[in-house]
Amino acid sequence: MKTLAELAFDNRFARLGDTFSTPIAPQPLDAPRLVVASESAMALLDLGPEQAHDPRFAEFCAGHWLAPGSEPRAMVYSGHQFGVYNPQLGDGRGLLLGEVVNAAGDYWDLHLKGAGSTPYSRMGDGRAVLRSSIREFLASEHLAALGIPSSRALAVTDSSTPVWRERRERGAMLMRLAPSHVRFGHFEFFYYTRQHDALRELLDFIVANHYPDCLEHPEPYHSFFHQVLERTAEMVGYWQAYGFCHGVMNTDNMSILGITFDFGPYAFLDDFDPQYICNHSDDTGRYSFDNQVPIAHWNLSALAQALTPFVGKDALLATLNRFLPRFREHWLGLMRGRLGLTQAHEGDRALVQDLLRLMQGSAVDFTRFFRELSESPADQALRRLREDFVDLAGFDAWSERYLNRVANEGRSAGERRAQMLAANPRYILRNYLAQQAIEAAEQGDYDPVRELHAVLSRPFDEQPGKERFAERPPEWGKHLEISCSS
Ligand code: AMP
Ligand code: MG
Repeated sequence: MKTLAELAFDNRFARLGDTFSTPIAPQPLDAPRLVVASESAMALLDLGPEQAHDPRFAEFCAGHWLAPGSEPRAMVYSGHQFGVYNPQLGDGRGLLLGEVVNAAGDYWDLHLKGAGSTPYSRMGDGRAVLRSSIREFLASEHLAALGIPSSRALAVTDSSTPVWRERRERGAMLMRLAPSHVRFGHFEFFYYTRQHDALRELLDFIVANHYPDCLEHPEPYHSFFHQVLERTAEMVGYWQAYGFCHGVMNTDNMSILGITFDFGPYAFLDDFDPQYICNHSDDTGRYSFDNQVPIAHWNLSALAQALTPFVGKDALLATLNRFLPRFREHWLGLMRGRLGLTQAHEGDRALVQDLLRLMQGSAVDFTRFFRELSESPADQALRRLREDFVDLAGFDAWSERYLNRVANEGRSAGERRAQMLAANPRYILRNYLAQQAIEAAEQGDYDPVRELHAVLSRPFDEQPGKERFAERPPEWGKHLEISCSS
């Protein structure tokens, strides 16, 4: 285990030079206070949990103190926002502090979000507010605990620095971790500014450091695109299987590693609603829950466009055509797991889709349905769950098909139960839970955020005394309006 001062840095991205990022020091927040830290994220850097109690930890996470070896830089990127190319987009408020190498030899980018203005800030103040920093912290750590690929969050700090959004709020910072902060939008920036030598340099950097297998391939850049597509299809498969709505799938928020990245007005579905739009600023529903699949495909085609100087169009198109089948395979595998099915049968996709169709329009809680189905023998669970469905005849017919399918698997009830309890979380990050914790934090009480984070870090475990976090949401909690403002 290490102290902050002992972190080992190897700043590979910084060494790419000023074409890709600009050196700039963080602008510290006033009177920083630690809101919450993630012990499991700290462990990725070989930091023991006691480090969070060192006053230096809050100073580090609020830009007051730089760990020796860090070289803060703002990364330049662009991207498509709501389908429209924006040549000057980011990073206006996040600094890559450096790359930490842990004892296992893994690299983790340390990234400070809300660290003040940079040459790329445009009209922005370079700050982040407490509410959005807490939201990103909770979601990234919860997704990781669910087993869904995501960037990580080390800690959130609060401050007395005023920040103006629709109202006066307090400035906060999020210390984010990821193996890389390179996004689709980085490639777009160098493509559209016609800096193709730099584009190739970035491509070589990412391939060498994050996709080294591609170097064995006769066409490494094509193979790279193929792997990014595979990982993205897998990520979206998880989102659709677990009801995660990202909210702002602009290409600058798409990680080149295929991990869930840059959280804004996200949501986990309460009642199952494929048309759900979690972002109040998304008037047309471009990023509605069901649209995430075609949008991920669209975003991959935007990345493919940026690779056209190095990879043939036909090859890129052929790979793009693989997206939908790969997404479906992955999603269906996860949905089988959620239903307690281990074998692949012909009619499985229809079985899942028919269930989702029945859920839609009924008051069926997407998380609780699968958890309740896991907790008791299937026939008993279905009798209880039936009450939530509008189309009872439809549900009965589906139940019969499902029970037959379960019987055909020939597994013991105990085996099935154990597998399902590990696939179906008891606790999910509901918007209203985040909202309640945020309101307390805004009043200076950080305990509710810490408690919620602790519960959501073990989403599959029964946690006695924490039952209220697993309840159905109150009606008001289903209709919170979360916008892009952050
Ligand atoms: P987002 O919608 O949060 O992904 O932001 C899009 C881009 O705008 C990112 O590159 C941010 O760096 C930049 N940005 C967002 N908010 C601010 C801000 N308050 N000041 C400067 N830049 C910002
Ligand atoms: Mg972003």
